[in-house]
Amino acid sequence: MNEACGVVGASFTGQKAALPIYYSLYALQHRGQESAGISVAHEGNTRSIKGMGIVPWVFKKTDLLSIPGSVGIGHVRYSTSGGSELENAQPLTINFRGGTIAIAHNGNLVNSEELRLELTRMGQIFLSDSDTEVIAHLLVKDLMRNNIVEAVRRLMRRLVGSYSFVMLLNDILIAVRDPLGFKPLCLGRVESEGGSGYIVASESVAIDVHDGEFIRDVCPGEALVITGNRIESHQIYQQKNTAHCVFEYIYFARPDSIIDGKLVYDVRLKIGERLASEHPVDADMISPVPDSGITSAIGYSKKSGIEYIEALMKNRYVGRTFIMPSDVVRKKAVQLKLNVIKPNIADRRVVLIDDSIVRGNTSRRIVDKVRRAGASEVHVRIGSPPIKTPCYLGIDMPTREELIASQKSVSEIETAIHAETLGYLSIDGLVEAIGIPASDLCLGCLTGVYPVEIPGEQCVQRQFRLEEFDLVD
Ligand code: SF4
Repeated sequence: MNEACGVVGASFTGQKAALPIYYSLYALQHRGQESAGISVAHEGNTRSIKGMGIVPWVFKKTDLLSIPGSVGIGHVRYSTSGGSELENAQPLTINFRGGTIAIAHNGNLVNSEELRLELTRMGQIFLSDSDTEVIAHLLVKDLMRNNIVEAVRRLMRRLVGSYSFVMLLNDILIAVRDPLGFKPLCLGRVESEGGSGYIVASESVAIDVHDGEFIRDVCPGEALVITGNRIESHQIYQQKNTAHCVFEYIYFARPDSIIDGKLVYDVRLKIGERLASEHPVDADMISPVPDSGITSAIGYSKKSGIEYIEALMKNRYVGRTFIMPSDVVRKKAVQLKLNVIKPNIADRRVVLIDDSIVRGNTSRRIVDKVRRAGASEVHVRIGSPPIKTPCYLGIDMPTREELIASQKSVSEIETAIHAETLGYLSIDGLVEAIGIPASDLCLGCLTGVYPVEIPGEQCVQRQFRLEEFDLVD
């Protein structure tokens, strides 16, 4: 599995781009904390700053202020395979006969190895093991003979999997979203005293941070070409269905982001309400597992009439356990991250609301912690259906063997995590809460049926192979 990342692109007139990109990356920090980078183009030169760690560690204000150029891109990265190393940090920059391209990518290509092999046989040398370098080399090959839009069209025909990427071709900003729209990407406009321009980003919070205006989501299969203040839209591929990742709504995105027309906060509230209807319980208090369980816990409390009281307090300076790379670090992180507010739970029947159960270890530790701190009963309600199979499309998840719901029934998981009762949201309940038809969502890791062909896995028949998508322009 590769990265789960955040991307941002900015094209301004009358204003330098590096600092606004930095602020947008700050807003997207939750999408990746291993490395960060910014590339800015100016008068034929593209300058990059990249480093390991979170955004404020990587960039110095003096550097940001001194980089000239009003168009640029940025990236925050999380990875497992592909290595947590500086060589894999993005944006990735390549010089070629036509100038320089820099790319920042969010997603995971299913056919990356195949494409890499093909390019290697043609003599291409790779400097990293990321999908992004595969995308960059394919694109450069096509840019030698074609204009940008034609090159992007040819590129998209080759890629299978999820990709939302922003790219600089010299001083032109290009944003592309895959034909099924797995990963989010949106467009906004920023007006300030210093200048104005467009921002393209993984989540709308990266536009909000500038008090900008959210314009719309980038459509699945669309490429935006932005030159200064001029924007062109090319709907390159059109498909009958989309495959938006449900985990963006359940867990990954910030609740204040709008993704494909849905405010994530509203979706999580509905998840909690629906969970209360599907799995009621006689209890004294509802508590979230912070942070991503908070909104669903409010929804559960509202629907059930049971009081919302926080049982756990999060140390916000520790990264998310789900996206931390090694198991050892993950274990320590749980201890560092959550503390129990003992007086709030003493002798009470507690319902804990969490977004998902992956391996089950974290849930068991939390249940044990709450019980040790004095709760008389601990019930667990999960705002997603059981995760049964891995994700091949850009969210890091363990193998089938490590996924607890792949190996055990709900009642066995209930026992394994030491809960009095356990209830998962149904797939119908999740789809209803998101408010997008199931035929337009990716439910691959919940159903084991994926929207694109993945060797050894089932593929849903309603969607096409990428080369069968209709060409629009
Ligand atoms: S398989 Fe699961 S996590 Fe991966 S894109 Fe689909 S819904 Fe999202």
